[in-house]
Amino acid sequence: MNPTLNVPEIFGTDVFNEAAMKQRLSPDIYEAWKQCIRTGSSLPLNVANEIAEAMKLWATEKGATHYTHWFQPMTGITAEKHDSFISPRGDGRVIMEFSGKELVRGESDASSFPSGGLRATFEARGYTAWDPTAFAFVKDNSLYIPTCFFSYTGEALDEKTPLLRSMDEVSREAIRILRLFGDTETKRVTASVGAEQEYFLLPKDLYAQREDLRLTGRTLFGAPAPKGEELETHYFGTIRTRVSTFMKDLDEQLWRLGVLSKTKHNEVAPCQHELAPIFSSASNACDSNQLIMEIMKKCAAKHNLVCLLHEKPFSCVSGSGKHNNWSLATDTGKNLFSPGKTPRQNAQFLVFLAAFVKGVDEYQDLLRCSVAYAGNDRRLGANEAPPVILSIYLGDELHAVVESIINGSNYTAPEKSVMRIGVDVMPPIPKDTTDRNRTSPLAFTGNKFEFRMLGSSQSIADPNIALNTIMAEELNGFATILENAEDFDATLQTLVCDTFTAHQRILFNGNGYSEAWRQEAARRGLSELRSTTEAMPRYASEKNVALVTKHGIFTEPEFRARNEIHLETYRKTINIEAKTTADIALRQILPAVSSYCADLANRVTGKKAVGCACRAESALLEKLSTGIDALYDCIETLQSKLRAVPATSIEAAQYFSEEIVPAMDAVRAEADAMELITDKTYWPFPTYSDLLFY
Ligand code: ADP
Ligand code: MG
Repeated sequence: MNPTLNVPEIFGTDVFNEAAMKQRLSPDIYEAWKQCIRTGSSLPLNVANEIAEAMKLWATEKGATHYTHWFQPMTGITAEKHDSFISPRGDGRVIMEFSGKELVRGESDASSFPSGGLRATFEARGYTAWDPTAFAFVKDNSLYIPTCFFSYTGEALDEKTPLLRSMDEVSREAIRILRLFGDTETKRVTASVGAEQEYFLLPKDLYAQREDLRLTGRTLFGAPAPKGEELETHYFGTIRTRVSTFMKDLDEQLWRLGVLSKTKHNEVAPCQHELAPIFSSASNACDSNQLIMEIMKKCAAKHNLVCLLHEKPFSCVSGSGKHNNWSLATDTGKNLFSPGKTPRQNAQFLVFLAAFVKGVDEYQDLLRCSVAYAGNDRRLGANEAPPVILSIYLGDELHAVVESIINGSNYTAPEKSVMRIGVDVMPPIPKDTTDRNRTSPLAFTGNKFEFRMLGSSQSIADPNIALNTIMAEELNGFATILENAEDFDATLQTLVCDTFTAHQRILFNGNGYSEAWRQEAARRGLSELRSTTEAMPRYASEKNVALVTKHGIFTEPEFRARNEIHLETYRKTINIEAKTTADIALRQILPAVSSYCADLANRVTGKKAVGCACRAESALLEKLSTGIDALYDCIETLQSKLRAVPATSIEAAQYFSEEIVPAMDAVRAEADAMELITDKTYWPFPTYSDLLFY
C-alpha cells in the first residue's frame, strides 16, 4: 500500500469509464455508445466491435489475460466464468482477441443457478448481456463486464434485470408528474441509493477454529462474554491499527475500482465496523455494494482477518444491517425529495411524499419480504435493529406539516394558518434533526428515505426494486388524476390531503422498539410479520403480482420463481445451521465436557481417598453430568426432527422455522450453560471473549 496515495490519480484507474471511453474510442463510436445509453437501444455490431477492441487493449495493458461476464444470479451474490483472450494464429502462437459479440452477449450453463423452476435443466442455457450503463473493470487479471442474466425464453434469472426495469418505470412515471409542474427539461429521473454496510472483523486464526463460523457465517454456540457493548466505547471509537491498516487497503482497492467509498467508523458492537459509499444510481449502488462485500472479504484475508457479513454473528451483541438511503433525482440535478423554497416546489415535493407514504402503506408486505432472510430473522425486531413492522418516520417538522394538511388546522408556526398546497411555502425542514429516530425502519432524513431493515449480507436489489416499483405505481395513479384535472390546484390539494388522511396509519414518530408501538400498530392494522416464514406467504399475493406485472418488472412466472427461491434459500440455510449445530455439539462440545467430567470424577475420588472435602468438584460434576445428558437428548431431538422434514416448499420452510430452529436453539442453550462452568482449557474452540476482545 502506498503511504502517500494520490487519490484523484488512482480513482477509477481500473475502470473503463466514460473518461477512458472518450479517450480510447473514435468520436463517432463514443457518440453512438452514448446515444444507446440515452435511448436504451442495443449497440450496433460495428460499435460493439470497436468498443470491444479498445476495451481489450486497455485491459491487457492492465495485465488482464481473461474476460468474464459478471452477473448477479438469484443467490444474492455475484457469479463469473473466465475466458482468456487467446486465439491461435496457426503457427503454434496466439494473439489476444475480443469481439463485439463476446462483449455484448455470453452464453452460460444456467442449470446450477437457482431458477425457481423457471427452467428445466434440459434447456439449461442462460444468456448474459452487457448492461452498457455499467462500466467494465479490471480485477485479478480479468476484464469484468457487468451483465444481465436471462433464460433462453427471455426470463430474468438475475437481480439486475428487474432492478433496471424498475428504475425505468419510476423514471417514466416521475417525469409525468414533473411535466405537470412545468418541468419540460428532465429526460430521466434516477433512483439514487447509498447503502451503508456494516460488518465484523475477526482474527483469522480464531475464526479457523470455529466450524460454525466457517460453515454458517455465525456462531451457533457461545455463552455471552462478561463484557458486551454496554460501556458504549466502541461506537465511533478510535480504530485499532490492524483494522485501520485493513480499512486503508480496502479504500484503495475500492477507489481503483471506481467505488465511492466515503465513510468508515467503528460500530456499536466490539469488532464491528461500517463503510458508507457516496450514493449513486440504484444499479450502480447495487454493483458497488457487491464489490464492497467481496473486496472486504478478500482484503481481510490479506490482513489475517476475516470479514463477517452475517446479520447476527454473535447472539449477545448487536447484529449488522445495511441502511439503504434512497431518493429520486432528475438529470438536471434536482432531488425530488428536497422540500423546496417556493410554494410550487413544495407542492411537487408533497406529491412525491404522498406517493411514497401511500406506496409504503399499501405494499408493506412486499417491502417486508424484500428483507426477509434467515439471517435477518435473528436481528429484526430484537431492539437493536428496526422492528418487523413497517412505518415511516418523518421527523417532527414534516410530521406536523402533514398533520396540518390532514386536519386542515393551523400549522404550529404561529403566524401560519392552514398550509395550502401550491400556495404556501413550507416551513424549513432541518436536514439534521437532532432527535433522529434510530428505531424507525424507514426514516426521512432531510432529502432521502433511509430504509434500515436490510440485512448486512443481502443484495440491495430486491428492496430497491420494491421501492422503485411502488413509487412508480403511486405516481402513475397520481399522474392520471392530475393530468385529467380541470382545476389543477384544487385537485392537487384534495389529492394530497386525501392521501395523507387515508394512509396516516403508516406514519409513526415514536419509539419503534416499544411494546406500546406493537399494540398500537396492531390497532392501526399494520402487518407484523415476525419471520421469513410469516412474511413470504404474502409475497406473491394477488395484489403484488398485479403490481409487478403491470409495470413489467416481473412476469408472473418470474415473480413466483423468486418466491420459490427465497423459500428454498431459507430452508437450505436453516438445514445447514441445524446439521452444523448437531455436529459441533456431538463431536466437539459433548466430548470436551465429558473429558472434564471424567477429570473431575478422578479428582473427587482422589480427594475423598485422603479425606478432603470436595464440595465444589462434586457440585460441578453433578451439574455437568445432568447437562451433558440434557445436551444429548436435545441433539437427538434435533436429529430426529431433521429426518422428518415435509416435502412441499412452504410447509418445509414453516417446519424449519417452527420445529428445527427451536430445536437448534435448545441444543445451544444446554451447551452455553455448560460452557460457563467448564474449565476453559477443555473448551474445544475460542469463546466469545476470545473472539470479541482479541
Ligand atoms: P446519515 O448521517 O443520515 O446516515 P450520511 O450523509 O452519512 O447521512 O449519508 C448516508 C448515506 O446516504 C451515504 O451513502 C450518502 O451518500 C447517502 N445519501 C446522501 N444523500 C442521498 C440521496 N439524496 N439519495 C440517496 N442517498 C443519499
Ligand atoms: Mg445512516
